[in-house]
Amino acid sequence: MSDTALTNSAVIAAYQERTPGSAKLAAEAKSLLPSGIAHDTRYIEPYGIYVERALGPRKWDVDGNEYVDYFGGHGALLLGHNHPEVLAAIHGAMDQGSHFGSNHPREVRWAELVSQMIPSAERVRFTSSGTESTHMALRLARAHTGKRKLARLITHFHGWHDHMTSGYTSHFDGSATPGVLDGINEQVVLLPPGDIDAAKRILSQDDDIAALFIEPTGGSFGMVPISADYVAALRDITAERGVVLVFDEVITGFRVSPGGAQAHFGITPDMTTLAKIIAGGLPGGAVVGTKEILDNLDFRAAADSGKEKIQHPGTFNANPVSAAAGIAALEIIQSTDVCERANAYTDTLRGKLNQVLADQGVPWAVYGTFSGFHTFTNSAGRAIDPTNFNPYDVPFEELKSKNNELIQRFRLALLVEGVDLMGWPGGLVSATHGEAEMELTVEAFARALAMLKREGDL
Ligand code: PMP
Repeated sequence: MSDTALTNSAVIAAYQERTPGSAKLAAEAKSLLPSGIAHDTRYIEPYGIYVERALGPRKWDVDGNEYVDYFGGHGALLLGHNHPEVLAAIHGAMDQGSHFGSNHPREVRWAELVSQMIPSAERVRFTSSGTESTHMALRLARAHTGKRKLARLITHFHGWHDHMTSGYTSHFDGSATPGVLDGINEQVVLLPPGDIDAAKRILSQDDDIAALFIEPTGGSFGMVPISADYVAALRDITAERGVVLVFDEVITGFRVSPGGAQAHFGITPDMTTLAKIIAGGLPGGAVVGTKEILDNLDFRAAADSGKEKIQHPGTFNANPVSAAAGIAALEIIQSTDVCERANAYTDTLRGKLNQVLADQGVPWAVYGTFSGFHTFTNSAGRAIDPTNFNPYDVPFEELKSKNNELIQRFRLALLVEGVDLMGWPGGLVSATHGEAEMELTVEAFARALAMLKREGDL
């Protein structure tokens, strides 16, 4: 964002007026943390809010401002902030010790729940994050097939390790990003999302593809949606070609339905990567899949089949506190309608926000799947009707292409109005979002758009 935009903007002035405490912390942070932040998606100019506490669907910053939260712990908090049963489980586990360096009963119960809920989870190996899960899934697929390459879909996100950096927001040509070796990217094959003929052609011409990774509802939880038919066709082709199909359900797992996207679609991958909700709001993840593939981690099974086992340490794998939080969260998700409630709220919210756009004559659209929503800000200036927008009509380049300055100003305007959106721009909804949050969000959305109009942005 240019300095002129910063000084001339009434939105930014209003934001700065409300957030002096955050401004002060941001100034200190800039001399300690690159960009003053700890996660790239928290980058916003002139600075982001500093949050002190949260409850259910809301959070409060250091200046005492209240927000309806659509970050939802980057998607980890389907049950909202500080769900009482999850909190009690965490406290109980903490009191007994945060790390035993031993097996413990909770990891068995946790794995049992994962295996009951996720259809592909014949075996479970816990990790500490989604990135670790996709890293291990790739290694397992290579060890299992003896092949080298990784195929994945352009715009799909699978964490930040070396094989996963090109093609989700940039480097769509598959070239290496800074710090990643060209040699790694030579082993990565990027497929255009949604194009079944391309997938058939590419997978049938290359015998060296170990795995195909996908986000089963589309890149960034449906920002670039893919259909169930396409996913089913990928299941068939990968089975025919001996390619391990990996569903990255780090966002969709336990959210789309208690059994994730795979249970919802009735399509079972060979392996699934999980994180976020699985650990009830604490750090944690898992790679799950068939016994045959996961046996590459099993001392006895690997030895019996004459293979060298894949090594997998990890100090905080299945730590008792994350396990306790995960068990409490998964038991609630398994036995209640939380997924359906979050999905229903988001469906209504998308409709209401589109009505606001239509009423104000703004050629944007709010879309998405299940409990996620995205705002299409139409940087190519298409003629669209927000209430009738079909993202499948728009090429992925356009769904991903953003005017970041405008989006930042939109998000700041929403913060001024008491709503915190993720940078998609959009959000992830919890089962605690209700009527009051809906009303506040719709009003804030309307007022934020009006502010942008006054600024001449729209
Ligand atoms: N896969 C997907 C689909 C994700 O959304 C994310 C995180 N947003 C990851 C992998 C990486 O997970 P983590 O941040 O826990 O490393």
